[in-house]
Amino acid sequence: MARRHPVVIDLTGSDDEGPYPKREQARISTATAIPTGFNLKPATDELKLAIRSANIGRLQGSVLSLCDKIPGATQLLSQMLLVPPARAPTAPIVVNALHGNKRRLVPRWATCINCELEFDVSDNDDDTACEYHRGHIDVDWSSGTWADWDEDCHGPMDTEENQDEYPDGFKWTCCDTTKGSMYCGYDRATGEEFERDGCRVGRHQTGAEGSKKRRIY
Ligand SMILES: [Zn+2]
Ligand SMILES: [Zn+2]
Repeated sequence: MARRHPVVIDLTGSDDEGPYPKREQARISTATAIPTGFNLKPATDELKLAIRSANIGRLQGSVLSLCDKIPGATQLLSQMLLVPPARAPTAPIVVNALHGNKRRLVPRWATCINCELEFDVSDNDDDTACEYHRGHIDVDWSSGTWADWDEDCHGPMDTEENQDEYPDGFKWTCCDTTKGSMYCGYDRATGEEFERDGCRVGRHQTGAEGSKKRRIY
């Protein structure tokens, strides 16, 4: 019987190089080859719906259990979710009981501490990617919105519902602008102006950047 070669599956759906240099990619692709005879079956519509409706904790538990049960799952997930530290200089240091705090591979995806969006730590060179405020939303007592507002009749002013319904009645404590105001930003690299949602702009941050200064316009 002819020998069948292992099948390499690209779960990223992308043709680009990915987070690893080509030589590293080739090494990982070999390591993550699905064993011959593995019954590959795309997710059914029912399973897709179940995945999208499950909460994050249940999905994390399901993925972790796959690492214990499916050959190659750990390597595949590592390829998708980890990057070499050289490509993610600001990624959080993961302290490993066995290896001290040497950084081997680090998480590729992180949540920005400023804008709270997920970002790719190996592709975080854009100085205008993160738009955010340093302060918080507070009631603007000088706003005409509250001229005839009686909390005994109308209820409390500072509620999320009121923030949505009466944005002019609230302002950011960091810049005194109304909630939802757009700022005009200036990109020093290209010389172009752009509209941004936040009085501050910079790169996304993980919180592990230490005292490095961010460029703020
Ligand atoms: Zn602000
Ligand atoms: Zn951000």
